Amino acid sequence: MIALPAHAVEEGSRDRFGRPLHDLRISVTDRCNFRCTYCMPKELFGANYRFMPRGELLSFEEIARLAGIFVSHGVRKIRLTGGEPLLRQGLEDLVGMLSALEGLEDLTLTTNGSLLTPMRARRLHAAGLDRLTVSLDAVDDTVFASMNDVGFPVEPVLRSIEEAGRAGLNPIKINMVVKRGVNDHEIVPMAERFRGSEHIVRFIEYMDVGNANGWRMDDVVSAREIVERVGRSYPLKAMEPNYRGEVARRWRYADGAGEIGVIASVTQPFCGACTRARLSAEGKLYTCLFANAGFDMRELVRSGASDEALSAAIGSVWGRRDDRYSEVRSGNTPSRPRIEMSYIGG
Ligand code: SAM
Ligand code: SF4
Ligand code: SF4
Repeated sequence: MIALPAHAVEEGSRDRFGRPLHDLRISVTDRCNFRCTYCMPKELFGANYRFMPRGELLSFEEIARLAGIFVSHGVRKIRLTGGEPLLRQGLEDLVGMLSALEGLEDLTLTTNGSLLTPMRARRLHAAGLDRLTVSLDAVDDTVFASMNDVGFPVEPVLRSIEEAGRAGLNPIKINMVVKRGVNDHEIVPMAERFRGSEHIVRFIEYMDVGNANGWRMDDVVSAREIVERVGRSYPLKAMEPNYRGEVARRWRYADGAGEIGVIASVTQPFCGACTRARLSAEGKLYTCLFANAGFDMRELVRSGASDEALSAAIGSVWGRRDDRYSEVRSGNTPSRPRIEMSYIGG
């Protein structure tokens, strides 16, 4: 077990708006085997794209050490992400190190599901992974293949979801990014496919992250429209959030066939309750998905900083935080350079 630093007893850190530091998303790689058009379009992430060399990535020991210090600042939930996190070899070892952190309550992983063998699902669960989120943008092969842009079919992802469920990584959330004119006709079929199962589909408004995806407001299908469309086929009732600051708004099927979530980051921003920090694969700390600069934790770690010095740096970065990008987003086009989602971790 990794011991918590002495200051673990401190009250959690608060930012300038009084928001606590509660969630940490850790990107373990900037690489991906998909080229989703809204995230890593081929034109920009082609053969000549320079991904991070291995030595630049934080090692598992470095990640676990930093994570322990984040927990001492109030982090209770960690999500591993990327890029595609299952491309990182031995990820189970990192899961084991993180699940041993005293005070951590929830350890999850977001994946495109293409590399999740039954054996890997069992190993991840045995190592201490609590839950899994799988991204799937359509149940129709042609639509899905054109969105992931590497021709990957739906069936193996569906199998991964079932295997993960069998391995005990429940409840499984299924993220669908909705882009108008591309996959919005798949909203109801997706709802239909998972109605009556344990799994929860979460429809995500297409966001203007990064600079690569050519985002336009016209491409966004609002959460309200998504709920109306599903509700026309299957009546829905609003549910209470599980906890304050929950990103997804929850709706249950009136006939008892389960629930869906909608993530309205564009049309109903939730910055006021945003308690998330992000650590990139090379160890930069970001306090907002739309940040254009991060604080270099790796440099501190590799220059021999003590736990106290690392803790002070995290406290100071969070204490200065005044991000609320989605609440002040203006106009239809991105206004300044930003970090790509595959780098910062979705
Ligand atoms: N590769 C993994 C995956 O796809 O699940 C993890 C990383 S991915 C960046 C994390 C999540 O971000 C995915 O559910 C993806 O659909 C979502 N995402 C990426 N770009 C997005 C965008 N422009 N708007 C909304 N969600 C986006
Ligand atoms: Fe890869 Fe996930 Fe981005 Fe798709 S959304 S390109 S699977 S990182
Ligand atoms: Fe949090 Fe930034 Fe998103 Fe607002 S825009 S919810 S501050 S990550």
